Amino acid sequence: MLTADVVIVGAGPVGAVAAYVLAEKGVKVVLCEAAGECQEDMRASTFHPPTLEILDEIGVAEELIECGLISPKYHFRKRQTGEFVEFDLSGIADCTKFPFRLQCEQHVMVKRLVKRLESHVNATVLFNHRAVWFSQTEDGVTASFETPFSIEQVKARYLVGADGGNSIIRKWLGADFDGFTYPEKFLTLSTTKELSAHIDNLVHVNYVVDSKEWLVLLRAPSAWRILVPADEATEDAVLLSDDTCDAIFSRLIGETGVPTSHRTVYRVHQRVVNRFNHGWSIGSTTGACS
Ligand SMILES: Cc1cc2nc3c(=O)[nH]c(=O)nc-3n(C[C@H](O)[C@H](O)[C@H](O)COP(=O)(O)OP(=O)(O)OC[C@H]3O[C@@H](n4cnc5c(N)ncnc54)[C@H](O)[C@@H]3O)c2cc1C
Repeated sequence: MLTADVVIVGAGPVGAVAAYVLAEKGVKVVLCEAAGECQEDMRASTFHPPTLEILDEIGVAEELIECGLISPKYHFRKRQTGEFVEFDLSGIADCTKFPFRLQCEQHVMVKRLVKRLESHVNATVLFNHRAVWFSQTEDGVTASFETPFSIEQVKARYLVGADGGNSIIRKWLGADFDGFTYPEKFLTLSTTKELSAHIDNLVHVNYVVDSKEWLVLLRAPSAWRILVPADEATEDAVLLSDDTCDAIFSRLIGETGVPTSHRTVYRVHQRVVNRFNHGWSIGSTTGACS
């Protein structure tokens, strides 16, 4: 059985950063990810100054900045008239080393951290390892993982559940996950179509106000991301259809048949677990957290 100081479930941004920080501090970590490789779906694409400051502390910020788009300005604009209000983060250059938003897909950071971990003396990265269960004893935690052909176990002093919003670790711990889910659904489309060739005065981050169809238009290195509200009564398959995309692009830039690399419908939750550690308190030596 593999052993470590800490076993981390989930190689998303939280698990990858936690694993890297611990490994750098000399803690033996095993990072287990259910998928066969780092997830590359289009999710968050903005790093704000405080996040860049944290990433700078662990020596990752500069490498990430090389992969992203430095975006000091962002706009709130009216869809109908194109009038905009400009916010310029250069104005806080005396408060932060990073007076800009960095436009960069979150999976770029995760992949780079995982690459560092794969050659790190204190880290082991295991893909195709889906956590299914764990048990705690006086001297640690044993976590069980489903792999394509077997169940594998990792024993550690601590287990960190960084397995996202549907965390099985949180569910096994029975932790409350209070809060609410917004009733609206949201639709994001990613396209390599250069929107700034069709819409005047776009910057990399644009919040577009409109009583009928507000928009967020975000430039990431690989694509423009378009976020629109989606009718909650409409089925996801309809929202993701070519017809819906054509209608959105037609209203936006007067074109149909615009290529999209990702289409996602999602809900937004505002929830937090009632406690972050279980089975351990400061001074004790073992436990799980989510
Ligand atoms: C479509 C979409 C758009 C988004 N856009 C934005 C945005 O614009 N701005 C923003 O700030 N945030 C955005 N978010 C939210 C952001 O992506 C999340 O906050 C972030 O991914 C959370 O990171 P995490 O590491 O906690 O979890 P995740 O990124 O969900 O990573 C969890 C990892 O754990 C793995 N995993 C799950 N279960 C198991 C298991 N049992 N065993 C092993 N591994 C497991 C998963 O495969 C995954 O790799 C968006 C989310 C979505 C879905």
